Amino acid sequence: MNVKIFNLEVSYDKVKAIRNISFEVASGAFITLIGSNGAGKSTTLRTISGLTKPSRGEIWIDDQQIDQMNPDAILKLGVGHVPEGRRIFQDLTVYENLMLGAFIIRDRDVIDNELQKVYKQFPRLRERQNQHASTLSGGEQQMLAIGRALMSKPSVLLLDEPSLGLAPIIVQEIGVFLRQINRQGVTIILVEQNADLALQLADYCYVLETGEIALHGNTKDLANNEHVRKAYLGI
Ligand code: ATP
Repeated sequence: MNVKIFNLEVSYDKVKAIRNISFEVASGAFITLIGSNGAGKSTTLRTISGLTKPSRGEIWIDDQQIDQMNPDAILKLGVGHVPEGRRIFQDLTVYENLMLGAFIIRDRDVIDNELQKVYKQFPRLRERQNQHASTLSGGEQQMLAIGRALMSKPSVLLLDEPSLGLAPIIVQEIGVFLRQINRQGVTIILVEQNADLALQLADYCYVLETGEIALHGNTKDLANNEHVRKAYLGI
């Protein structure tokens, strides 16, 4: 599924978090949004998944306009969201958290099939399926958050800072999973503070600065761009 965003503006009370953003993500692409704190990255993802409503502009998924739809309807269309801070249910087991991700699917066989796919992708979740989520390590909790989003069979996956607070080796592991998921045809929009990681994983990048796209290009080109190197890669 492709995603198209036209002249998006999003405000919280008097603060304009997104001023005027337009971009397109082709079906099967892997793009990233980078930018400093408060640039509007999370707001962009929250607006695509319907958690926040824009004050202006349009969002389309293939030929459906979604900017006024509620989050459940957008999820049913195939847009999964792994929110900032993971938001998994600590007192529920791994299995129960995964089942919650499948709430829009009625067919038991489809749910079982998705569960087996998630367990194959993340064997550690299978091993720990009856443990409370609170007993998982940070990296395992992030795998659970991604697995839960995959349970709804998304065609588009929105990821908000999956690397946050994780050891470099786990970050690399999650990066490998994301590339695999993308190779299976899922369109990915990745938000990251870790610009180095984002530029390694994605094919195309938009740099957000104070609610606007300051720069965009292929990740290989942006990794060599002087402004990006100074401002986001610290080199
Ligand atoms: P970070 O990397 O720090 O998460 P971000 O690029 O994801 O930053 P957003 O979280 O989208 O940025 O925030 C964009 C702007 O909107 C910021 O100025 C922020 O303070 C403001 N903002 C975000 N959420 C709210 C809210 N619920 N109420 C009021 N202002 C908000």
